[in-house]
Amino acid sequence: MSGSPASPPRAQVRFPDPAGIAAAAAILRGGGLVAMPTETVYGLAGDAFHELALARIFDVKERPTFDPLIVHVTAGAAPLRLADLQSARLVDPARLTGRLREAADALIARFWPGPLTLVLPKRDDVPDLATSGLRSVAVRMPAHPVAQALLAAAGTPLAAPSANRFGRISPTSAEAVMDELGDRIPLILDGGRCAVGVESTVLSVGQHAEQPGALVLLRPGAVSAAVIEAAAGLPVATLAEPVARAGPQASPGLLESHYAPRVPLALLPAPVAHLAPARAREIARAAGAPPGAVVGLLLLGGPVEPAATAFATATGLEVHARALSAAGDLAEVAHSLFAELRAIDRALAHQDEAVLFCEPCAPTPGLGHAIADRLRRASAPRPRG
Ligand code: AMP
Ligand code: MG
Repeated sequence: MSGSPASPPRAQVRFPDPAGIAAAAAILRGGGLVAMPTETVYGLAGDAFHELALARIFDVKERPTFDPLIVHVTAGAAPLRLADLQSARLVDPARLTGRLREAADALIARFWPGPLTLVLPKRDDVPDLATSGLRSVAVRMPAHPVAQALLAAAGTPLAAPSANRFGRISPTSAEAVMDELGDRIPLILDGGRCAVGVESTVLSVGQHAEQPGALVLLRPGAVSAAVIEAAAGLPVATLAEPVARAGPQASPGLLESHYAPRVPLALLPAPVAHLAPARAREIARAAGAPPGAVVGLLLLGGPVEPAATAFATATGLEVHARALSAAGDLAEVAHSLFAELRAIDRALAHQDEAVLFCEPCAPTPGLGHAIADRLRRASAPRPRG
């Protein structure tokens, strides 16, 4: 319609064939940004050594600059070692003890490419903007073939945080990226749904201020502390419940309210099957959902019907329920989590007083811990202003 203001340009969504990869690499070489699929979530990629590209990442995401980025590296031809990250101008292994150098090499050999990010001492070449002024840099080698093809074609490490606006749900499909950033970036490579679905495990290799010299789990992900310990031959310290604080974050994943849908998320204290009706009613009232209100109910496993009916009967709410995995399988729960949060968010967007209730996840090592962590943050009180 003429007369209406021009709508902002929309990102091009391209199939990641050689022409698509070449187009994306050309944008990256010019200091621009593209969204790329990885096995965890979609990343907003820019040249890690290009100051302007890094500034654009923070701008596009509306991300505070105290929140550092993960630098993604190419798998190349040969198996990679710490020394290669030094040659790549990223890491300064001299600032690690011999024992930690061995541990890092063992972890790289065992888990890369894959969903494990290592926080290592940085070389001065790494721009401060990538690390929020920290003396450490977070590095990961993604396993996704499209991310690897793009890294090879770009010829530079790529800083790539999740391709969502700050504090919102990480995208696990090209459509979700379009939803988040379609008006802000030129190109999205469509690699289908992300296999893992939750962000990488982040491990500090001797870089945590309060536990210098130790391996510290900064963000839980698919790779558990136990398998890291086995591969590294060293204990892994886990942080107590993360505390939100001002200033540089040891890990952006430590920000308390994160991964949040627009509709308020209320984490149930127990699976619906174990909630007494009176308790369910109390919870619904405390969450601000008056009888008759339309609400979402996210179950970890099926069947959906009995749980939805029990919750609706107890609370008097109109319940729209979905299960993250019919069989209650954790890998499937992780795979669907962000996509389902997004779908429910969209479905409830125009309902007043909508609330999304979600069953809790037992924090079993690895994915259980990662899912419980993301749900807790999605339900955390939101900072205002
Ligand atoms: P996102 O970019 O949204 O995937 O989140 C980035 C993740 O990078 C955070 O959760 C942090 O754990 C991690 N990170 C990046 N750089 C550092 C660093 N220098 N030290 C500690 N954690 C880091
Ligand atoms: Mg993120």
